[in-house]
Amino acid sequence: MNPSTALPHVVIVGGGIAGLAAAFFLRDEPVRVTVLEGSPRLGGKLSVSEVAGVPVDEGAEALLVTRPEGTGLIAEVGLAGDRVAPGTTSSAIWTLGALRPLPRRQFMGVPSDLAELAQSGVVSGAGAARASQDLELPPTTRDGDVPVAAFVGARFGVEVVDRLVDPLLGGVYAGRSSDLSFDATMPTLAAASRRYRSLAEAAGSLLPPPSSPVAVPVAAGEQGRAPAGTRSGGSVFTTLSGGLGQLPAVLAKASGAEVRTAAMTRALAPGAPGAPGAPAAGPGWRLTVGSAAAEELIDADAVILAVPARPAARLLAGVPGASAAVTAFDEISYASMAIVTLAYPRSAFPGASSGPFSGSGLAALGWSGYLVPAVDGRAVKAVTFSSVKWPHLAEATAPGAEPLEIVRCSVGRIGEEALLQRADEELAALAAAELAAATGVRGGPVAHRITRWGGALPQYTIGHLDRVARIRAAVATQRGLAVCGAAYEGVGIPACVATARAAASQVTEFLRGGRQ
Ligand SMILES: Cc1cc2nc3c(=O)[nH]c(=O)nc-3n(C[C@H](O)[C@H](O)[C@H](O)COP(=O)(O)OP(=O)(O)OC[C@H]3O[C@@H](n4cnc5c(N)ncnc54)[C@H](O)[C@@H]3O)c2cc1C
Repeated sequence: MNPSTALPHVVIVGGGIAGLAAAFFLRDEPVRVTVLEGSPRLGGKLSVSEVAGVPVDEGAEALLVTRPEGTGLIAEVGLAGDRVAPGTTSSAIWTLGALRPLPRRQFMGVPSDLAELAQSGVVSGAGAARASQDLELPPTTRDGDVPVAAFVGARFGVEVVDRLVDPLLGGVYAGRSSDLSFDATMPTLAAASRRYRSLAEAAGSLLPPPSSPVAVPVAAGEQGRAPAGTRSGGSVFTTLSGGLGQLPAVLAKASGAEVRTAAMTRALAPGAPGAPGAPAAGPGWRLTVGSAAAEELIDADAVILAVPARPAARLLAGVPGASAAVTAFDEISYASMAIVTLAYPRSAFPGASSGPFSGSGLAALGWSGYLVPAVDGRAVKAVTFSSVKWPHLAEATAPGAEPLEIVRCSVGRIGEEALLQRADEELAALAAAELAAATGVRGGPVAHRITRWGGALPQYTIGHLDRVARIRAAVATQRGLAVCGAAYEGVGIPACVATARAAASQVTEFLRGGRQ
């Protein structure tokens, strides 16, 4: 315990959404909390800045509302009134030479209505015929964890994998279905697939009835995050009018914690615990913070590591008894990516003079964006028509000026790091050229912004659940230590917040329980 105060000291390493949420969940506990963020900026993968004068998210931009943790946190910090609903969340797949509707009746790309799949044109006639064999094939047995592509491919064939499931997974993890674990990335479907012979039927069992007016959680954020939504309305996602990137600063303030930026934690070591079975006589942990030239030592009674796997492994490397966690953390790879945000005058888009979406600009296309299968060889893997998905962005254009269309292009799947090495102007030109090919937009953007996210998303590859179990078991043996964030049970914000709440409870229990 810090002698300068009567309260135990909890140090949280990492000022992303998970670390800040953990600090917030400790706000009413009898503890003193310090958050140490290594970079000069709070928020991690949440960040907002202006493009052509409009505040647009650079990282996470949509929150799934079908899990309560994210929206609950927003309400608790007093931002519920700033929530906005999407204008539309229907999505397309850009493949086989056209924008084609993402089937409504699918679960993370796994189709449940094979007639709708055939009609969508997302797969060829032969691909649709192969997919329908799912209804006839004998059960596909599996022994332990398997890649998504192997299981889904065995049921529906390669086209469904390549043109539906892989792009949807790519939108969430920037990963490939040939590597990602079926059990870890689609746990509810993996469980349902053990109850049904047909995977289409298993997927259907997880969707609302076809006649339901309720929006279908198509890419259902098993991980609390979904890259594509529904045609029927905006109930699946939400964002904040000033961008999700405004949440970290509000959370930091509401937590009442001491929140420090540019405070890189370089080492973690056990401090001076009390005798076994007795309350600790001194701090349980010592953290080394800052550069070697200006090193600072901070003592803590409990520590929450809210950092990605690599820094977590580095910090635990010097902790006796934590080697199993270090090994498992080292096995978690990360995909890097970039977000290229482009702004165009509305009249640059061809519009439509008739049909259900007649009108001007991007809205006339009738989608909130599109996904691009890797097999089609494009650089951009997903595009969000931000000003269509979030109409308040279109309304934010300066009064009297022509409305702007804001387009968010996501570049970089795992293994495509070379693409991300290209200069900003080159990436912007590449994204703009592909957008023109897909939508017919004329002329170049009036503004652009490139945001590079190195080590953006953990890859839940085969064995992920086992790795997380090993990490959690090893961390549980360390007195007053907890972990949270995207590396564990979901990369989406609600899942990260859930791990933060659990970590806050773990250290509270430890401190209350005489630190046994
Ligand atoms: C481009 C992009 C778009 C996304 N879109 C969505 C979306 O729309 N919806 C959604 O739900 N999810 C989305 N996600 C996923 C989600 O945003 C992330 O999984 C989540 O924000 C991760 O939060 P975190 O706190 O676990 O980690 P991070 O945000 O990575 O935060 C960890 C923090 O720890 C700091 N740190 C690291 N090492 C140290 C150290 N040694 N000392 C001190 N500090 C350290 C880092 O600087 C960082 O700030 C997106 C992710 C990306 C990359």
